[in-house]
Amino acid sequence: MQENRNSTNRPTEAITNLAILAANFRSIKEFIGGSVNYMAVVKANAYGHGAVRCAEALEAAGIDWFAVAIAEEALDLRAAGIKKPILCLGGVWPGQAETLIRNNITPTVFTVEIAELIHSTAKAIGQRVDIHLKIDTGMGRVGIQLAELGDFLDHLKTLPFLNVDGMMTHFAVADDPEQDPFTEQQLAAFHDAVELARSKGFQPKHIDAANSPGAFTHPASRLGMVRLGGVLYGLVDDILPKNTPIPNIKPVLSLTTRIAQVKTIPAGATVGYGRTFTAEAETVVATIPIGYNDGYRRAFSNKARAIVAGKYANVVGKVSMDWVSLDMTGIAGVKPGDKVVLIGSDGELSIRTEELSQIAETISYEITCGLSSRITRRYFDGDSLLHL
Ligand SMILES: *Cc1c(COP(=O)(O)O)cnc(C)c1O
Repeated sequence: MQENRNSTNRPTEAITNLAILAANFRSIKEFIGGSVNYMAVVKANAYGHGAVRCAEALEAAGIDWFAVAIAEEALDLRAAGIKKPILCLGGVWPGQAETLIRNNITPTVFTVEIAELIHSTAKAIGQRVDIHLKIDTGMGRVGIQLAELGDFLDHLKTLPFLNVDGMMTHFAVADDPEQDPFTEQQLAAFHDAVELARSKGFQPKHIDAANSPGAFTHPASRLGMVRLGGVLYGLVDDILPKNTPIPNIKPVLSLTTRIAQVKTIPAGATVGYGRTFTAEAETVVATIPIGYNDGYRRAFSNKARAIVAGKYANVVGKVSMDWVSLDMTGIAGVKPGDKVVLIGSDGELSIRTEELSQIAETISYEITCGLSSRITRRYFDGDSLLHL
């Protein structure tokens, strides 16, 4: 992860509130109960929230497992001193097996090639290695198909340096109540897969299926462990169906900047590329140092809003690579250096990531994941605001 040169950066900052992250985890654990294990999914830099700091906060709060997408992400966590088990969801590529094994990172296995790669490396090192098997019950992405599972398990019997420590599957539509029968079918198929493995003498300790929507809308899918991403970060509106009963979960991320310039433009003047905004009357416009290269999407042009001096201010004109302009109508006395909230709350007002994802016709995950390394990262730990 690239470190920012904070002392020289412009004031465009993504702030991750680690106290809220830990509180979200505690609320969820109280709601679902302590009989299941909790795996925090911190792939993609914790959905853009900063994987190392988030993992440290969740480890201190008592999380049981972490999941990452790729080997590099797992190694970053180990290098930072994370001790809990880490599941690497994204397969293993030639050259990665030894580092994963030596850093005690659990690979997800879904092809014979991956099984053999890990086995030959484990054998060479002389160490038996835990693996989790991923079963495709309907996602149609990576995972062992049920029809092939018997042969796959028989093949695993010839690979004595592998230990099947877990089995998992992943839901395609757990967030869509209209497709609940499909999710139930996936869960039933997964039970069949686990039963088949047990009948062949495997004894997986961890059996897991539920992502965020699964854990809240299909309690039967909680099994031995839930794998939670979005809800931990407080991203819920477009992740869980409307009216899903949930505990108190708050957004973890804020995005703020400061005004670079304030100007008054006459009636008829336009703002930005393409002249898509025309002032109907004399208008005060404030320009802020953020743009689509920071992950503040071009789709927000003329549609998103910010909070300035306790009031909402509309984005006017096209979002450009490095600049966004805001209409200051009704907001008196703003000047360069004044604070602007793009995601987060200020007093009574708030802008959720889900508001922005709806404008961009995507999901909130894509907005937080898309915040670029050009943005300064800060972490609030409850007592103090910390730079990266
Ligand atoms: C990303 C991911 C999750 C977490 O999903 P959320 O919707 O963020 O809870 C769980 N399991 C797997 C396999 C994933 O890839």
